[in-house]
Amino acid sequence: MTDLDRIFEIKKEMGEELLILAHHYQSDDIIKTADFVGDSLKLAQYAQQNKSAKYIVFCGVYFMSETADILTEDWQKVLQPAITAGCPMADMADKEQAEKAWEVITEELGCDIVPITYVNSKAEIKAFCGRHGGTTVTSGNAVKVVDWGIKQNKVILFLPDRNLGRNTAYDLGIPLENMAEYDPKTESLEYSCGKDDVKIVLWKGYCHVHHKITVKHIEDARRIHPDAQVIVHPECQFEIAQAADGKGSTEYLINQVKNGEKGSKWIIGTEHNLVKRLKDTYTDKEIYILDTSSVCTNMNRTNPQNLLETLEDIQKGNFEKQVKVDKAVAEDALKSLETMLSLV
Ligand code: SF4
Repeated sequence: MTDLDRIFEIKKEMGEELLILAHHYQSDDIIKTADFVGDSLKLAQYAQQNKSAKYIVFCGVYFMSETADILTEDWQKVLQPAITAGCPMADMADKEQAEKAWEVITEELGCDIVPITYVNSKAEIKAFCGRHGGTTVTSGNAVKVVDWGIKQNKVILFLPDRNLGRNTAYDLGIPLENMAEYDPKTESLEYSCGKDDVKIVLWKGYCHVHHKITVKHIEDARRIHPDAQVIVHPECQFEIAQAADGKGSTEYLINQVKNGEKGSKWIIGTEHNLVKRLKDTYTDKEIYILDTSSVCTNMNRTNPQNLLETLEDIQKGNFEKQVKVDKAVAEDALKSLETMLSLV
């Protein structure tokens, strides 16, 4: 019997007590086992709405499991099969660095700040935002949430993905010269406009999977497939987002392809598992990946073997792979998540 066969057997045995969630970037084998597939927020919301599963097995990376734990009930346990799978971008901002940034920005710009963090961040950063009257944001609701931030008439501190922050702020009419960057390593602010003209401070973090896509990738792809549409995730750099035909969240990328005309051609700048699945699903369209090296090794750490081990552990009462957020952190983080959910 294969690991997958045994996983399906355990799913049957456990019934509604067990909920398996998988992010779009997971491998096909893991996707087959999932009760629900989605982006990080949709998965967390799905977990939040589910009131029958005692055990929620999250096939993704650490910040996603933390968010699911924050949004679910105390009696529900969130477990992550690849427990060491983190997100390098989320790891680019911690609480101490954020507190220091607050101090540096306040001192240097003499302004009020509203912090907004991408959901791809540690629970302690979401808690930091919750404590300071800020909120969280996803790539799917970034325009609405950053627009809310602009209306606060404060300087926005956007963490930890400078690319999503820059792409979104630009779409909302903030000129590039009015955007500052904060470097947590040097604890310094960089900006070219006057102090009073800074509208948003972008944390110098990035997702390496999307950040390393270049304009040359787009130029080469257009040369080979001149009649294809190039669409990218907004975690890509500003120049890439501008050079593409469209940019948007994972849901946007999926919908563009799904609703595209028969025979249409798509070149997609995002994680390879998702692009591969789109290619396998929409066989009436031509689909290519923009950069073949767009692989998130952390997302790919979940496999049938460690998923099966997690399910067997649950049956034995072993919860070593449980993700549990500290209560005080969870309370503050919940405030920032709830602010976002009330806006979208
Ligand atoms: S794809 Fe990027 S943002 Fe997503 S988990 Fe991997 S490193 Fe983090």
